[in-house]
Amino acid sequence: MSVWNDLVGQEPVVEGLRAAVQAGVPAHAWLFTGPPGSGRSAAARAFAAALQCREKPAGCGHCASCHQVLQGTHADVEVIRPAGLSFGVKQTRELVLRAASSPSGGNWQIVLFEDADRATEAAANALLKAIEEPPPRTVWLLCTPSPEDMLVTIRSRCRLVTLRTPPVAAIADALVQRDGVDRETAEVTARAAQGHVSRARRLATDEDARRRRDEVLALPRRLTSVGPAVHAAEKLVKAAEAEAKAVTEELNESETAAMRQALGESAKGRMPRGTAGAMKELEDRQKSRATRVKRDALDRALLDLASYYRDVLALQLGSPGEPVNVPLGAELRAAARDGTPEATLRRLDAIMECRERVDANVNPLLAVESLTLALRTR
Ligand SMILES: [Zn+2]
Repeated sequence: MSVWNDLVGQEPVVEGLRAAVQAGVPAHAWLFTGPPGSGRSAAARAFAAALQCREKPAGCGHCASCHQVLQGTHADVEVIRPAGLSFGVKQTRELVLRAASSPSGGNWQIVLFEDADRATEAAANALLKAIEEPPPRTVWLLCTPSPEDMLVTIRSRCRLVTLRTPPVAAIADALVQRDGVDRETAEVTARAAQGHVSRARRLATDEDARRRRDEVLALPRRLTSVGPAVHAAEKLVKAAEAEAKAVTEELNESETAAMRQALGESAKGRMPRGTAGAMKELEDRQKSRATRVKRDALDRALLDLASYYRDVLALQLGSPGEPVNVPLGAELRAAARDGTPEATLRRLDAIMECRERVDANVNPLLAVESLTLALRTR
């Protein structure tokens, strides 16, 4: 067991980070990039733990320091997880100030900024100043989906860590070995999750999540005429909302428990005086995150739907390889026979357009309704 265990299918990245820790003085700014679900923040967290660890080899995974970093309670590792859709300049300035202080007991003062692409332009400029003139013991770990999400001036001052989409086999192995999932379920869900590790784990271990995904993939079958198509749109949006609710509740629960413990909850579950403000702040943050999770869940549902038509397209074009949606084999083959690649491409375009509309704040139900009507067009 070591801090690197949580990274699935990222061996080259782990090797590079290990070497950086061993070399002693790390670069003072790092940019972790990789597609959603590849584990960029998990990689940054493991790296932070290894930098603080004093065992040999560093990043042992069982000393107090490693535990604290992995649980998010280490005094010298500040984790920034923007709850809303953007992160402002005022918060960033405060963060820069805190980051400039000396570590209180750890080796380094580390700031782990997840979703750093949510920093507003002004916030990014404040961040740039901090990275340009780094205090000697401060290390910044920024995470974004791709390097282009960061100002080029920031990017050029960071060491780049690029995670790949984890291979299906690596995800399936992790599900079997770590989560005790049976081999067949692991293979099917690893494929269905399309490289998203936590999504794969969720699908493999939570029957309701699987059912909600099936609900999304039932949409093409329901497009028999206009009435059912509109109804199918409603079902897809509802499935995404239910998924978002489940994800939010799970996140909230573990966060709240960790916060209560950190603030000194008594064995009987009582909270010490003066901690109500911090708990309220956490609640507010969780509320604003819920909006984001909802949007992400709908986008994920649309990506699942796109995987259906990509499978169909692959069959129509005779491309080799297994489909993403193995259990739907017969249905996919029938859909491939009944249509043309051109029509399938048009449908994929319609899904991408719907994603853009949802991202631009169009009412989700309206956007998905017009999508289902476009999907019916031959
Ligand atoms: Zn350790």
